[in-house]
Amino acid sequence: MAAEVEIVQGDITTEEVDAVVNAANSSLLGGGGVDGAIHSAAGPDLLEACRAVRRDSLPDGLPVGQAVATPGFRLQARWVIHTVGPNRHAGQTDPALLESCFRRSLALAADLEAESVAFPAISAGIYGWEPEEVARIALRTVSDYDGRVRLVRFVLFSDRMAEIFRRARP
Ligand code: ADP
Repeated sequence: MAAEVEIVQGDITTEEVDAVVNAANSSLLGGGGVDGAIHSAAGPDLLEACRAVRRDSLPDGLPVGQAVATPGFRLQARWVIHTVGPNRHAGQTDPALLESCFRRSLALAADLEAESVAFPAISAGIYGWEPEEVARIALRTVSDYDGRVRLVRFVLFSDRMAEIFRRARP
């Protein structure tokens, strides 16, 4: 069955969902934007968990378009799903990479038996993608999704981004 889709303006770190998705970088060792906000809200155990992932399974970092999970620690969410969006400033302009972030995050959420998942506007910040394109790809990928996740909530930091997502809704 298709998941219900919600579009809200807000801070993803306070979402009461089973899993929040982090627009991470390949190092998984923290960054700015939503990544920094999730790490501050989840507490230092999140960074420790990311270090452990690096050490145990991803010595070269998480490739663009893939996803990996850690606990949410001090977040309401039980899980953080870290995914690495394509960086337009580094020439990563293939929409399939961004689509893969949404698809793989949902597949991982389903493996974790998460029924509700919150996404930020992956790659629409520091990584420089046009918000309209991110919204289109995000909404299309989620509407094509057919699996165990029941609720997908896009949590956009600004009113402007929330409006762009609402307008892009198919
Ligand atoms: P990327 O490097 O993938 O572009 P950024 O973190 O720079 O990721 O930005 C992605 C989006 O997340 C931007 O629209 C930014 O405004 C937004 N953002 C930043 N902080 C938060 C937050 N606490 N909750 C939700 N979205 C956020």
